[in-house]
Amino acid sequence: MSDPVIAVDLGGTNLRCAVVDADGVISARRQARTPAQEGPDAVLDLLASLVSASASEAGLANDAPVGIDMPGPLDPRAEIVAFMPNLAGWRDFPVGDALRRRISRPFALGNDGNCAALGEAAYGAARGVADLIHVALGTGIGGGVISRGRLIDGVHGFGAEVGHVVVALDGPRCSCGGIGCIESFAAGWALARDADLVSRTDDGAAIRLAAGDQPVGVQALIEAAESGDPAALAILRRAAGALGAGLGGFLNLFNPAMITIGGGVGDRAGDLLIPMIEERLAQHSFPQCRHGLRIVRSELGDDAGLLGASVIARETAG
Ligand SMILES: [Zn+2]
Repeated sequence: MSDPVIAVDLGGTNLRCAVVDADGVISARRQARTPAQEGPDAVLDLLASLVSASASEAGLANDAPVGIDMPGPLDPRAEIVAFMPNLAGWRDFPVGDALRRRISRPFALGNDGNCAALGEAAYGAARGVADLIHVALGTGIGGGVISRGRLIDGVHGFGAEVGHVVVALDGPRCSCGGIGCIESFAAGWALARDADLVSRTDDGAAIRLAAGDQPVGVQALIEAAESGDPAALAILRRAAGALGAGLGGFLNLFNPAMITIGGGVGDRAGDLLIPMIEERLAQHSFPQCRHGLRIVRSELGDDAGLLGASVIARETAG
């Protein structure tokens, strides 16, 4: 369908809603702070009110569909949220029933990594690319896999957790409880951990300086790396090593034409990380599987989730 649809990006911090037309043009934006600690009812009440405000501003019909991008693992077909990081009260939550009590429009659900991949393929750096791996490098690491134009997410939609693939059997503990996932080296939280550790040593002067009177975090790490600081660059190189090892496996599995790197950390540090990742991919993949591969930064920034949500909304309308 080519009519405008409603897109919702539910995040741990902000709840955003907009109308998106078939060309990816965004209008009638609404945004509010997510009442993350107040439980699903408060979040969904607010979501429904933003949907209705955006729809009426844009003059949409009552059956214009809604696509909702949600953080964390969910089964988009059974409409069950397994849990949501940073949002209280969502464990094994039947979100479909709860939404139907509030929204009479057709709707579709997707997790944020998959939505970002779909957005990138429809409107971003991967327009026209049928074989894509998207890596959302933020506080955590999400992403999605599109193969021959289809999103690959498995029997219950929990697949394509691209950040939670093990690259080191004796690596650090991951946020998921596992050991040595890509995320445990390369997510924002892991980079902040390493930057903080190094900043307490003699090698950490440039990172300390970049942090100023703020706590040492990813921002200071990237600034120090951009100024050529060897200790900061070594942290990023280790993260790129983990990404290179993991993505090398994905190349051998999926033989994509493109890898897009987005998310807050990817948007900020992609230019530093991408050449480092490319160097490592050569050690971890078949030459045939990376032949012609392009690794590029996401073009959608904060709107990746909204645009991806518009893609699933459009699909639900047929
Ligand atoms: Zn993990």
